[in-house]
Amino acid sequence: MSVEERLLRYCKIDTQSDPSSDTTPSTEKQFNLGKLLVEELKELGLKDAVIDEHCYVYAHLESNVEKPCKTVGFIAHMDTATEYSGENVNPRVIRNYDGKDIELCEGVITEVKDYPQLKELVGHDLIVTDGSTLLGADDKAGIAAIMDMVEYFVTHPEEKHGRIAIGFTPDEEIGGGTKFFNYDYFDADFAYTLDGESPATYTDETFNAAKVVAKFHGLSIHPGSAKDRMINACNLAMEFHEKFPTYMRPEHTEGREGFIHLTNMTGYTDFAQLDYIVRDHNNDKLEEKIALMNRSKDWINQFYGEGTCELECSITYRNMKEIIDEHPEVSKMALDSIKELGLTPEIEPARGGTDGAQLSFNGLPCPNLGAGMGNVHGRYEYCSIQQMEQASKLIRLIIGKTLEE
Ligand SMILES: [Zn+2]
Repeated sequence: MSVEERLLRYCKIDTQSDPSSDTTPSTEKQFNLGKLLVEELKELGLKDAVIDEHCYVYAHLESNVEKPCKTVGFIAHMDTATEYSGENVNPRVIRNYDGKDIELCEGVITEVKDYPQLKELVGHDLIVTDGSTLLGADDKAGIAAIMDMVEYFVTHPEEKHGRIAIGFTPDEEIGGGTKFFNYDYFDADFAYTLDGESPATYTDETFNAAKVVAKFHGLSIHPGSAKDRMINACNLAMEFHEKFPTYMRPEHTEGREGFIHLTNMTGYTDFAQLDYIVRDHNNDKLEEKIALMNRSKDWINQFYGEGTCELECSITYRNMKEIIDEHPEVSKMALDSIKELGLTPEIEPARGGTDGAQLSFNGLPCPNLGAGMGNVHGRYEYCSIQQMEQASKLIRLIIGKTLEE
């Protein structure tokens, strides 16, 4: 089966996750794809392919060489984003893309001026939506590339490879992709997620992430007799917040710039609360931002009395780079392989977390590779068939390098 046939097949299965659910998987329908993948893996001869009660799929392609070498894993997620419908996905293939705007359906047009990266895909065959759903190439392009790699090795027994671990996970889009990941069963020395755009991109960095909750205790007095007595918690919250520079807001940052983001505010005279997320690739800079928030708290407390403002701070996740850097061979194999494909590696720090970050901190170093998707999480999503083929080739090259180690 070609990667194209695979993507078309997987995209038509609705696997949208649900953030309001507290089960894993968050939606039963993710099993429909999981079970199909287990069947396909078994047909390809991967006898240990399984799906567990939480909808995690695992399988191994055993080594066909004598010499012991490391087990490399490849991971993709089965669920699709929650921002746009994933029901009745009706994909269409555009052959030999001409670089012009794409009419998905009447009135819904992917305009090149909005998505300039399309210019790099002239001549490619693209898979697009009918304008009414997302495509789900995020991350079914990753699944298709991994399955294509398995099929290649199974049908080319003369090609030598070590032991390969395969994992397909549920609920990545709602932050639950690693919750029940079975490291022992997966049993790899290191792994790569295939959850990025162009196969030239390589991501071994995420944000360091903290959550900060600021609580303000006021004193409610009838406003008619409030003079010199009332302390309005809402005003305290505003005084606290205005100490942070505007340029530290997400809407003014990019690349490796971190931010302080006010995500929620509630308040009345007696009590107010501000919820923040704080992000930075550099851990020292994250600490500085938290220190700035603490100084703002101290200022409020000096002025209005100890305990007026309380801060609760917790670390949500850490930049996986510190782990990946302990395993330089993992990055080297990926970057060398990207170059062997004839591409120039684009090292992109993720402005968010990845499943790989959690996996890395739990002992499985796991940077991210591109799989050919673009404009993800909406109806303008597309996928390049040639880039999916490159992604499949890329991971075969990486597998080849485990033999040299
Ligand atoms: Zn994804």
